[in-house]
Amino acid sequence: MNAEPDEERLHPDDLIALLKALRDDLDNRASSLRAGANVPSGGISFGKRVGEGTSIAIERFADVAIHDQIIQQLAAVDAALVRVAEGHYGVCEVCRHRIAAERLDAIPWAATCVSCA
Ligand SMILES: [Zn+2]
Repeated sequence: MNAEPDEERLHPDDLIALLKALRDDLDNRASSLRAGANVPSGGISFGKRVGEGTSIAIERFADVAIHDQIIQQLAAVDAALVRVAEGHYGVCEVCRHRIAAERLDAIPWAATCVSCA
C-alpha cells in the first residue's frame, strides 16, 4: 500500500516484475509445448490408421505455430525489459511519441503506439 500521488504508469520495479512474470509464463508454455512435442501422449503408432497419424501431425503443426508465436512474444517481452532498463519504455519506436497508457496496460510489451502498430 503506498500512498503516492496518482501515477498513470507503473513504477519501473513493478513493470519489470510484471514483464518478468510474463516472460516466465511464456517460457513455461514454450517448454511444455516442447515437452509435448517430444513425448506424444500415449506414443504414436504411425501406419495404424492413416487418419490418426495425420491428425497428430496437424496437432503437432499447430503446436509448432503456437510455439513460434510464444517465442516471438518472449523476444518482444525481452525487448521491453531492455527498454525499461534503458529508460525509454513506453516510447513508440517509430514516431517517438508516448504510447498511450491504456495500450501499455493491454500490451505491456508494445513497442509502437496505436497509429504506428
Ligand atoms: Zn508511433
